[in-house]
Amino acid sequence: MRIEIDSRSGFCFGVVHAIRAAEEALKAGRPLYCLGDIVHNTMEVNRLKKMGLQIIDHETYQTKSDCSVLIRAHGEPPETYQYADENNINLIDATCPIVLRLQQRVGLACEEMKQVGGQVIIFGKQGHAEVVGLKGQCPEQVIVVSGEDELNKIDFSKPVRMFAQTTQDIGEYKTLQDEILTRMKPYSLTPGRFKATDSICRQVSKRAPELATFARAHDVVIFASDPKSSNGKYLYGVCKQANPNTHFVGSIDEVNTAWVQNIQSVGICGATSTPLWMMEGIREKLLQS
Ligand code: SF4
Repeated sequence: MRIEIDSRSGFCFGVVHAIRAAEEALKAGRPLYCLGDIVHNTMEVNRLKKMGLQIIDHETYQTKSDCSVLIRAHGEPPETYQYADENNINLIDATCPIVLRLQQRVGLACEEMKQVGGQVIIFGKQGHAEVVGLKGQCPEQVIVVSGEDELNKIDFSKPVRMFAQTTQDIGEYKTLQDEILTRMKPYSLTPGRFKATDSICRQVSKRAPELATFARAHDVVIFASDPKSSNGKYLYGVCKQANPNTHFVGSIDEVNTAWVQNIQSVGICGATSTPLWMMEGIREKLLQS
């Protein structure tokens, strides 16, 4: 039986970088706090907790001083940095470089729109950590929309600069851009009044088609993910559609070796929040069966 782990499944480089930064800092043996879950995977978070990582929320952060705090890949708004400066907090900044660049672009767009009374639109999930960090670049000017039903928040007579949360769907983003353009037309569309930046991260957006190809190439597919991960639910659906012999597992223990009896090939894959050690553990279990 051939067993293949999908080389493109698992953490994106932004998350890998944040986890490495945490592991490195924890080696020093001093307490390390992380603002929010470092990754949406309970088992990986528990592994890091055992090494000494303490997850805190923003309310608790506001009570800390003289300590080290890790900023995860999603990034943070400027006030988090300001609070650290004022309270002798050593920030270990593991903001993904792609998110950091996007924060800078949103900040520049805000400056530009301030001059002409325009608006900066972020297509994303209200309250999502990355969106909070982006909106924080200029809270009074940024409007967050999660879909077409929220476009009424926009004043179509004013100039618009538009960005998307890095993990949004490209198709939906394009549809929203078209709709905004249509609604702006009656107010005249002079050049430069509307500009949308493609800020979607290909590390995530390319996963679905690649995963479907991977799933089709195997007799049985084992898809590993934290059941709470929304990316996991979505990508599992993609695999299941491409190959109905796809099984979802939330842990190595849930793997049923009867699934792979008398078959030629098994594919092991997962979400963007699935650790490699989990997929390797599944392979070990299958090899020993
Ligand atoms: S921007 Fe891309 S690489 Fe960076 S954390 Fe988000 S999904 Fe990962």
